[in-house]
Amino acid sequence: MAMATKFSSSYAPLGLATKPNTPTSLPFQPRTLPSFLVTGKETKLRVVSASGVAPTAVEPETVRTGGKGSKTLPFRVGHGFDLHRLEPGYPLIIGGIDIPHDRGCEAHSDGDVLLHCVVDAILGALGLPDIGQIFPDSDPKWKGAASSVFIKEAVKLMDEAGYEIGNLDATLILQRPKLSPFKETIRSHLSELLGADPSVVNLKAKTHEKVDSLGENRSIAAHTVVLLMRK
Ligand SMILES: [Zn+2]
Repeated sequence: MAMATKFSSSYAPLGLATKPNTPTSLPFQPRTLPSFLVTGKETKLRVVSASGVAPTAVEPETVRTGGKGSKTLPFRVGHGFDLHRLEPGYPLIIGGIDIPHDRGCEAHSDGDVLLHCVVDAILGALGLPDIGQIFPDSDPKWKGAASSVFIKEAVKLMDEAGYEIGNLDATLILQRPKLSPFKETIRSHLSELLGADPSVVNLKAKTHEKVDSLGENRSIAAHTVVLLMRK
């Protein structure tokens, strides 16, 4: 708490002071809810997804919340990583944009490696379970789903927890095709999906020096780091 107070006072002139901790109603309750999202003593959690269907991978559990470890941070950092196999006969969707290529991602949803790792970065910053637990690939409901659905859900969770995007930095790793002609379109679409100013969303792309599956055009990967700020 001392650390939060220090942050709050030194950043107050910039308008980034913390807000008091308020109980938050989440559409999805993870197994161990981060203490900053919940106040109170002992809570029996009911696990319900945004659509009202309980995710299969997470079980209800009694957790003890509040107490000495509970604090509301002015900033939260999250990291996301994803990798998909590239196979002929599938579209290559990156950041919601269809990229012309001789192969694409074989995946349960649309295989959008960038959006998946952005979702995981936001969930990670919030201290929530990963994308696979919220949208289990065993559920036919998500088969072929546009990954923008997952982004919207993550943004909703972030908003309900009282945070907004500070900035986001993503790196795509693929040997082919060259992404420079599409980078700006992808970045702008990603900013739009996140409801964030394009100036705080950064996208980089690099090859894998022709080594391993990434360098042999057999897979594509992405990393994302996101900073969330208390609204
Ligand atoms: Zn994925």
